[in-house]
Amino acid sequence: MYSTPLNGMDHQQLLALCNAAGVSAVHADTLRAGLFRHYLKELDAIAELPLRLRRYLAEHCYMFEPLCTATREAADGTQKLLLSMADGREVETVLIPAAGRLTQCISTQVGCAVGCTFCLTATAGLTRNLTAAEMVAEVMAGQRLSTQKVSNLVLMGMGEPLHNYDAVAQFVRMASDPKGMAFSPNRITLSTSGLVPAMQRMIRDELPCNLAVSLNASNDQVRDTIMPINRKYPIAQLLQTVRDYIKVRGNKRVLIEYVLLAGINDSVEDAHRLTALLEGMGCTVNLLPFNAYPGLPFQRPSDETVSVFRTILVQANIIAVVRESKGREIAAACGQLKTEVTERRKSGL
Ligand code: SAH
Ligand code: SF4
Repeated sequence: MYSTPLNGMDHQQLLALCNAAGVSAVHADTLRAGLFRHYLKELDAIAELPLRLRRYLAEHCYMFEPLCTATREAADGTQKLLLSMADGREVETVLIPAAGRLTQCISTQVGCAVGCTFCLTATAGLTRNLTAAEMVAEVMAGQRLSTQKVSNLVLMGMGEPLHNYDAVAQFVRMASDPKGMAFSPNRITLSTSGLVPAMQRMIRDELPCNLAVSLNASNDQVRDTIMPINRKYPIAQLLQTVRDYIKVRGNKRVLIEYVLLAGINDSVEDAHRLTALLEGMGCTVNLLPFNAYPGLPFQRPSDETVSVFRTILVQANIIAVVRESKGREIAAACGQLKTEVTERRKSGL
């Protein structure tokens, strides 16, 4: 009896399944294409499967589909879904349309244990890891909402992907499988708060995706207070690991994320220090003006401050882009829809 739902099965596991069912290995490819390329819900919809395999699957396997418990759509086309897993735990996923592409933001955990003080997901701590099958199910649920093909995946939803390394690695490999979901590795980006040993493992494993690092401060003193992980892996060690990654992975451009918090890390000095830290690394910087939420003790900087900060980076030849949380009116920042819906349920609305 298989306990793994079909959604989380990579090619090797599908081969083992065909073997156990007593059918030819070629059917693993048919399954792979039907399930992950065409996102077919019903096994009956996959043509060319021998009856023997259909019977075996019906008896031993199932396709997991999360329940969509809330959706929001913003004027800019951003769609946010709250998905309930088999145990009732909920995570968010967001579809973000942009010129010629459709990016989906994937959650990797229910909650997060890292405890960054500006992040809503951190407030309830970690409930549990998601499985690879649940992450694949997020993509399937997202894809069903749109006629446009999801073209890019960013692992920037709820959770710290590298605290859930094995399941995330399985998901990334499945997502980039050319005979399955077939995302180009260049179009998959994993974002981490900076877990150095797991980043080193990513390098060793040659995980087929891009790397984004949430730096969020220009010195250890500030980073220690807003991202407790920094006390374990301070900035110098973190950036050395990024340099190692760039060296081993060749021309890969690492993305540096920097949440701008008014009066905390948004000064002209911060911008100059950040420039110095990133010198010669060829990184791109995403500046994320803080997405305010009641209860979080920070303010968003003025547009003027954001613009001055960006200009200093650009003048130092760093590509810096200001990224608004898309669809702010639909609570698109990480953790907001889940918090809103939970609050509403508590108050019986
Ligand atoms: N745990 C991973 C990925 C999920 S968080 C990480 O931290 O990288 C994705 C991004 O959202 C991170 O860069 C984080 O710094 C940013 N973020 C979290 N809360 C935010 C907020 N309230 N406003 C703006 N950006 C936020
Ligand atoms: Fe976790 Fe990322 Fe939020 Fe930090 S910013 S608490 S690592 S989800």
